[in-house]
Amino acid sequence: MFNQKKALPHWNDLLGSSVVTADQLESLLSVNREEAQQVIDRYPMRINPYYLSLIRAPNDPIWKQAVPDIAEIYDHHRLSDDPLSEEPQSPVPNLIHRYPDRVVFLVSAQCAMFCRYCMRKRKVGVPFVVTDETIRQGLRYIQSHKEIRDVIVSGGDPFLLSDEVISDILKNIRAISHVEIIRIHTRVPCTLPQRITRELAEMLKAFHPMYINTHFNHPSEITPESSAACNMLADAGIPMGCQTVLLKGVNDTPEVMKQLMQKLLMIRVKPYYIHHPDLVRGTMHFHPSPETGLKIMDELRGHTSGLCVPQYMIDLPGGGGKIPLIPEYVIEKKKKKWLIRNYEGKIFEYPLVEG
Ligand SMILES: *Cc1c(COP(=O)(O)O)cnc(C)c1O
Ligand code: SF4
Repeated sequence: MFNQKKALPHWNDLLGSSVVTADQLESLLSVNREEAQQVIDRYPMRINPYYLSLIRAPNDPIWKQAVPDIAEIYDHHRLSDDPLSEEPQSPVPNLIHRYPDRVVFLVSAQCAMFCRYCMRKRKVGVPFVVTDETIRQGLRYIQSHKEIRDVIVSGGDPFLLSDEVISDILKNIRAISHVEIIRIHTRVPCTLPQRITRELAEMLKAFHPMYINTHFNHPSEITPESSAACNMLADAGIPMGCQTVLLKGVNDTPEVMKQLMQKLLMIRVKPYYIHHPDLVRGTMHFHPSPETGLKIMDELRGHTSGLCVPQYMIDLPGGGGKIPLIPEYVIEKKKKKWLIRNYEGKIFEYPLVEG
């Protein structure tokens, strides 16, 4: 019925009805309760009713992202919890200063759904990781480092904080004159789009230039709800980007990735990065080969709008930073000409003429 107004549940109520115990999980999905318990003992689970409703079948791409897998506690590769050296590169707790002019500022350890492949598994859902004191220390650090012109507000998910706390943090960052831009990294438009309200979008407007990078991994995450959330933020004048993680069994084929990138443009989100997953303990079962990522990039470029071709990034172990991986197009560099292949694989001669 067109004019019937349903009372929609508040995002906090949705979050409060999340599946967090092995017993709850077993009552809803066909899982092994003991195995789920072993995983949850190490890494917390939270599947809110909205994200849960997107699961269509056991082990589908939504399930894989949200439901604990016993492989998380196998550790055959002896991987680190922090392979990118984020902790050594944090001059104060929860503020990563790796690059010259920008920092990642972790203001929340909570998320609307705990992604099983999370690169910050060591921190998310852990109580007392982020406190008022770590936030104050981070603000003081940014204040006293004039080279910082770009602050990436991240977590966890900053949008799990209340509007008041978010506004307070943003006011404090905006009061620092050398900060030019603020970016917010949030998965909420995908995992709990009900959190994006008119009030939130209206409040964020006061802090321009403000950018949001969100995080979608599969076309079936693009729903009427997530579309409404992204449109609300875009209507507030906030350019929206997407950081997708390449995940085995979720989005590691050119067909799925192309559909995702195209659908993102339809909800006014510009694909920014596809991340090769980081070598984090407990996430190995999600890892594809970098060749898989290169093949996907090769089947995007030229085959669809350049707007939906992001960069494919690999984050170097030890904190070396992100580097793009790009398919080879230059086949051979001769003295007078280069041989270059196009997106269809045809070879062209490009004459080297210098002015
Ligand atoms: C990814 C990242 C950034 C931001 O990198 P951009 O390429 O500017 O988006 C900044 N700091 C750290 C520690 C990062 O991991
Ligand atoms: S939303 Fe981001 S920080 Fe939170 S669990 Fe997922 S990947 Fe990790």
